[in-house]
Amino acid sequence: MSSHSSLYNIVPGALEEGLEVFVVIFDRDWALWSQYPGLLARIHPIRIRRPKDSMAILRAFNAIEQELVIVPHGSFVRYLSGESLALLKHPIFGGVKILQYEADRNKNVGLLAAAGITTPRIFDNPDAVDCPVIVKLHGAEGGKGYFIAVNRDDLWEKGKGKQIDFIQEYISGVSIYAHYFSSPIRDRIELLGFDRRLESNANSQYLVSFEEPSFTVVGNIPIVVRESLVPEYYQMGQKFVEQTGLVGPFCIETICSSEPKIYAFEFSGRIVAGTSVWAPSGNAYTHLLWNEPMYMGKRIAREIKDAFTTNQLAKITVDSP
Ligand code: ATP
Repeated sequence: MSSHSSLYNIVPGALEEGLEVFVVIFDRDWALWSQYPGLLARIHPIRIRRPKDSMAILRAFNAIEQELVIVPHGSFVRYLSGESLALLKHPIFGGVKILQYEADRNKNVGLLAAAGITTPRIFDNPDAVDCPVIVKLHGAEGGKGYFIAVNRDDLWEKGKGKQIDFIQEYISGVSIYAHYFSSPIRDRIELLGFDRRLESNANSQYLVSFEEPSFTVVGNIPIVVRESLVPEYYQMGQKFVEQTGLVGPFCIETICSSEPKIYAFEFSGRIVAGTSVWAPSGNAYTHLLWNEPMYMGKRIAREIKDAFTTNQLAKITVDSP
């Protein structure tokens, strides 16, 4: 399905690995995809009018006759609801269940905590707030409309008239998004890099802001983390896979505080847009693991290819938790 991750990451990776590629492309994205006629000529584009029409998306996927694996990403999860996913006739890379954790913040952060990963505190009751908090609104995507309250009174004041979904301890520090790949075929977990999001005026060039910070994502930048943090990030990924049985790409979204201490506030059980910062050449981490240009889209394609050729497709399309 058309999205930032598929155009610049998943599809180029699949083509590099010699896979046959079908892409459901929404009309609104067609002009952008048409900028790359060389890429369009190598895939099977399936045009769909509206992303909101989940039945049309389902029909398009189900009409494909070939044996295939669907690679999910952020837009895929947004436009195909839980019920629609169950009607897909083709298997999903990494399984379906883990994707359903995106809709429920409590379940999402709960799974991280269950794996023994440090997470910020959550407040069910606004009156229990005793520290600065970040308030996440119902249905917000990409940090839109969030606000920070320095204490309980500030929370009541700023929350007036808003449908507050989730109140979480605000961690002061640097946001770091860790990219992992869990490979059942090679029986290992790979740490493939880090990025951080550029979030509107929360990361504006001015130190003094006259507005409420906005976390609306406008882009991503690559990070190389300090060496002493790498083992900790690696163990975090390991613990999470041990707990969930997760297969394929995933991202643990963290804030690193001044101590430094790592707090994980969310995960995505699929490829994230931030991994595109490393396409098509890879980075220091992927180089040591692969000794060839490697990035998330290509890594996914490599696993699919290996699973197909060794008749182990069931291993990469299992349902996690
Ligand atoms: P998406 O679904 O696209 O990941 P979202 O709407 O779920 O976005 P979050 O990823 O939860 O939003 O948060 C958006 C941003 O808010 C983060 O990138 C981070 O900068 C900031 N943030 C989130 N939680 C915390 C926290 N507990 N402490 C400090 N900052 C936070």
